[in-house]
Amino acid sequence: MRLLVVEDEPKTADYLRKGLRECGYVVDVVSDGHSGLHWALESDYDLLVLDLMLPGLDGREVLRRLRERRATPVLLLTARDSVQDRVQGLELGADDYLVKPFAFAELVARIRSLLRRGPPRQAEVIEVGELRMNVPARVLTRGGERVHLSAREFTLLELLMRRQGEVLSRGQIASLVWDMNFDSDTNVVDVAVRRLRQRIGDPVPGRWIHTVRGMGYVCELREPEA
Ligand code: CA
Repeated sequence: MRLLVVEDEPKTADYLRKGLRECGYVVDVVSDGHSGLHWALESDYDLLVLDLMLPGLDGREVLRRLRERRATPVLLLTARDSVQDRVQGLELGADDYLVKPFAFAELVARIRSLLRRGPPRQAEVIEVGELRMNVPARVLTRGGERVHLSAREFTLLELLMRRQGEVLSRGQIASLVWDMNFDSDTNVVDVAVRRLRQRIGDPVPGRWIHTVRGMGYVCELREPEA
């Protein structure tokens, strides 16, 4: 099991690193919000221990951005037991909450319990700019207005939005959305993407979905040039 600890207080960070390693976890420790978010997105951790008050990005912002892309369980640490902090933390998608100072045994018990819950759910709401997708409800809105998509279009857009910023080849898209190989005819993907762009009102040259020549497609927000 691999854990990422995001904690800026050197003493606490050190104590967590040593203690959790003794419990048999592989532990990486970073001390600011930007590094925390970067590693949480770039690497596969089974759980994050995230301090709320951090330099750079604070824990809330790390959590909010993480939840756009990943459902890794997060145990939030905070210095004070403020109801507002707790509610905000849980609303942003923290899985559990621990107030400092805490007993190490309590921390380990919480971590074990989160890890026992099994593979995390995927993020349920994905946002790219004013596009907002509620995945379980199969509802897409653009600036609050409902956009109707076919089941296939929804799946295609879900894939692109979940993998925001990542270039997906036509072959990858074909196998993930159609569950088939279109080695000979990836034109199917081009046609579907073109239709999807029309549905969501993506202008040319594109605000959300972009063609990467010779490679495939990427979803990311680009403001049109004035
Ligand atoms: Ca702190």
